[in-house]
Amino acid sequence: MPFSSFHGNAELVRRLREMLARDRFPHAVILAGPQGAGKYTLALMLARTMNCLQPRETDGLPDFCGECSNCRRIGEAEDLEARFAEAVEVREGLRDTDKRETRILVQTHPDVLVVPPDPPQMMIKVDQVRQVIQNSHYKPQEARRRVFIFSDSAFMKEAANALLKVLEEPPDFATLFLLARNPGELLPTIRSRSITFTLSALPAAEIEQYLAKERPEWNLRQRQLVARLSGGAVGRARSLDLEEYVASRKDALTLLSAAVRSADHSDLFRTTETYRAGGEGKEKTDRLLSAVYGLLKDLMALISGAPELVRNTDITAELKTMAGAVDFKWIAQATQQLGQVQSGMRRNVLRPLSLDAMALALER
Ligand SMILES: [Zn+2]
Repeated sequence: MPFSSFHGNAELVRRLREMLARDRFPHAVILAGPQGAGKYTLALMLARTMNCLQPRETDGLPDFCGECSNCRRIGEAEDLEARFAEAVEVREGLRDTDKRETRILVQTHPDVLVVPPDPPQMMIKVDQVRQVIQNSHYKPQEARRRVFIFSDSAFMKEAANALLKVLEEPPDFATLFLLARNPGELLPTIRSRSITFTLSALPAAEIEQYLAKERPEWNLRQRQLVARLSGGAVGRARSLDLEEYVASRKDALTLLSAAVRSADHSDLFRTTETYRAGGEGKEKTDRLLSAVYGLLKDLMALISGAPELVRNTDITAELKTMAGAVDFKWIAQATQQLGQVQSGMRRNVLRPLSLDAMALALER
């Protein structure tokens, strides 16, 4: 749970904890870095350290217990995807007038507010920032510091200007985290009022080593695959359901090879038959589509002469055969078709049909 479970970027984490120890933590911190580098995990760890009811030290620096009621409740925000989906579902259930006025926020502790990009535009909107401004006027109720975490740097213009106002006169007891894959997206005036820390993704070799200890049941080939699939994110690597992934990828391969070979389609129809409507069917279809997307990226890498970028390292031979039968144009088309299936899913179009249509539309 505590900082010892955060992998990589050790020097940067140490500096942040030192600032906490000296009680000199900045009011606004930009945590920059690629997806999977641990920006959100780190922000939540710092939020817990600021507010832990049984604070402790490890390696001579502040840490959190992970067990007190503040730590537990803040920790409930860790699965951001799940909390975000819940918030969206609640909004979907509202009356139309309320729906329009409700913004997506994640709050598992009264003093810690997570602000994700608001769908459908997936940008941070001015009403979300207004909520932060309103909250930031009050002293924390159950914690020592109020913490606001913006999980993305895509702000609507008005929202960015509102945020700037907060940064010009930050309340004493509040800390803002801005998580940014690309800090250049943020207004220069926002950047100049914040301190930026840049995290790097872990190299695949380091994740492989980590997995050798954490997931000894996986063999070398499996560890290599997972290290690449996780894109440098330790947390994702550790929790990846390999069996589930391989099953989805098998179906994704069936779908793509039906398109490439355009021969007998009975395999394709047998496979797509198993994708049904309903909650479980949706998750399964999501996994399938993301596997198809990953395979298309690998094919692109092979065609571009960059085999070192292939992520599905365990099936390189199969991918090479397939790459020999397609070209850039086909991959671009396939990616577009994939987007159409995804938007069809949002509109609840029957899944087996749209998956078949996708494969048939891509026939060579
Ligand atoms: Zn605690």
